[in-house]
Amino acid sequence: MVEQSEQVRVTLSDGTSVEVPKGATVADVLALWKKSPNGWVAARLNGRLLDLNAPVEEGGALEPLSPESPEGLEILRHSTSHIMAQAVQELFPGTKIAIGPAIENGFYYDFDSAQPFSPEDLEKIEAKMAEIIEARLPFRREEWEREKAIALFRDRGEKYKVELLEELQDATVSVYRQGDFVDLCRGPHIPDTGYVKAYKLLSLAGAYWRGDERNPMLQRIYGTVFPDKKALKKYLDFLAEAQRRDHRRLGRELDLFSFSDEVGAGMVIYHPKGALLRHILETFEKKEHLRRGYQIVMGPTLLKTELWKRSGHFDNYRENMYFTEIEGQSYGIKPMNCLSHMLIYKSKVRSYRDLPIRYFELGTVHRHEKSGVLHGLLRVRQFTQDDAHILCTPDQLHGEIQGIVDFVIEVMGLFGFSYEMEISTRPEKSIGTDEDWERATRALMAALEDKGIPFQICEGEGAFYGPKIDVKLRDALERKWQCATIQCDFTLPERFDLTYVGPDGNRHRPVMLHRVILGAIERFLGVLIEHYAGAFPTWLAPVQAVLVTVTDKQLPFAREVYERMREAGVRVEIDERNEKLGFKIREAQMQKIPYMLVIGDNEVEAGAVRPRQRDGRQLDLMSPEAFIELIRAECLEGSGGRIGLGAV
Ligand SMILES: [Zn+2]
Ligand SMILES: [Zn+2]
Repeated sequence: MVEQSEQVRVTLSDGTSVEVPKGATVADVLALWKKSPNGWVAARLNGRLLDLNAPVEEGGALEPLSPESPEGLEILRHSTSHIMAQAVQELFPGTKIAIGPAIENGFYYDFDSAQPFSPEDLEKIEAKMAEIIEARLPFRREEWEREKAIALFRDRGEKYKVELLEELQDATVSVYRQGDFVDLCRGPHIPDTGYVKAYKLLSLAGAYWRGDERNPMLQRIYGTVFPDKKALKKYLDFLAEAQRRDHRRLGRELDLFSFSDEVGAGMVIYHPKGALLRHILETFEKKEHLRRGYQIVMGPTLLKTELWKRSGHFDNYRENMYFTEIEGQSYGIKPMNCLSHMLIYKSKVRSYRDLPIRYFELGTVHRHEKSGVLHGLLRVRQFTQDDAHILCTPDQLHGEIQGIVDFVIEVMGLFGFSYEMEISTRPEKSIGTDEDWERATRALMAALEDKGIPFQICEGEGAFYGPKIDVKLRDALERKWQCATIQCDFTLPERFDLTYVGPDGNRHRPVMLHRVILGAIERFLGVLIEHYAGAFPTWLAPVQAVLVTVTDKQLPFAREVYERMREAGVRVEIDERNEKLGFKIREAQMQKIPYMLVIGDNEVEAGAVRPRQRDGRQLDLMSPEAFIELIRAECLEGSGGRIGLGAV
């Protein structure tokens, strides 16, 4: 008599239900179902991740993972890090392995090797990986007693794995093998190395073991992998384009700003063109805020530490602040601009008739960021916010928030950014009454709903002092950046006892909004440089036009035109260097100047200029005055009517 093997019933993602012998592999079950264009990489059975060659020991819901799915892609990426580590150990015997996780857009592995890796080594490693992939080595999972696993890795000289194992509590651990390579790993992994079809090693970096600078410095190799060649190419093209637009490179090439070790990390030094660009943005901001009923204020940079204690910053934010002592008195350098604004509010008795009050400051703040996270203009230690604080009655809250949302939308449109909005609600640890939170959160939502703006809710992600709207803008490469925020605050009006006299003659608490539109100007400039790839629209360009003569003979006329334009407020340069015309033209193109005016005998004779646009288009001959008008019109159009000539 043949014994019936035990059967289990498995239900697949589309509702198909199949009966299979207990112990059949996940791959066996999926073979009965359907194919995925790039194969399945792993699966979830009743929520638990499994390798494809794992046995199905129980019935239930089986969800296969394709390499296109977020989890499947992560498994593919992490598996490729194992393959890279195998290649490295085969090429560089004695190299110890640390950790090799999947990350956003790829993976890395950290190595301890006596020999420093070079970019040429990356090519060798890639070639070795190709051999391993070609060999279709299966990934085999093994369960080991922890003590035995420690002995195994100690034998192999893998001290980092031993250290990791010694910290684990588990009695048994899993290791994965492919070929002679062994790694401590939870898995799951792709069934065999042949599943990797489109990969690329990208870069080298140093990284401390466990991110701690007291530990040895390891060598990190970054790579990426995609389900197919097409997706990989798309990503590599994106990387190349991002590199072309990199604001740190453009900042140098366009002579906008620099950083200096002598000054200190995270402190921006603005060169003339960068400072001018910032000046234009700031002019725009001041005009725009005044137009919208804000008042410009300015507060000091150093404020007594006592005040930071009262505001709660000393208790909650001290690690990010810089302190100094003068004549025995301790001061904190402001990380935020709120405090002076509240002191201005408190400088006299306020009536409901005075509200809303909107204080605006281009406030320069300092925040201590770890040196590891500093990144060009995007992450700095000193920056200037376009910061405002609005104090209003509860009834005015809705209208005020709407006003800010309108402001954000208009400004983002001007720069050609699309955006997404998020509302963050009450976190577990928070202050203020339920009623306060309810009203403020409602007001934030209503302001977006009234405009028909879709938004995401980030449950419990608000600040402890109130809910907020975050605006994430998308640049030309579809990357998301946090810029504007609108935050309600219930604490500071309490702590500083801000009041207004209501129609009933009693004192009431105003509601306070903190908000920025561009956010940190430094960061916004960085995003802007990358968004435009350094080719700023005419209204923002630090140099709008450059005059170039064919020979020195035309110089007197060129100088005259230059003077007329400069007088009118056009940001113009004249290239009087003793260089060839072609050289000067190329240089102006590299500088991405919107207009080039080449002056030859014809122009001198006609007393006119023939502007050539940055994209190479040639305009008709026109008088210098007509050209000035053209620039003025372009500035006004670009800035939504706010900025004309001369950044005013
Ligand atoms: Zn692994
Ligand atoms: Zn504030």
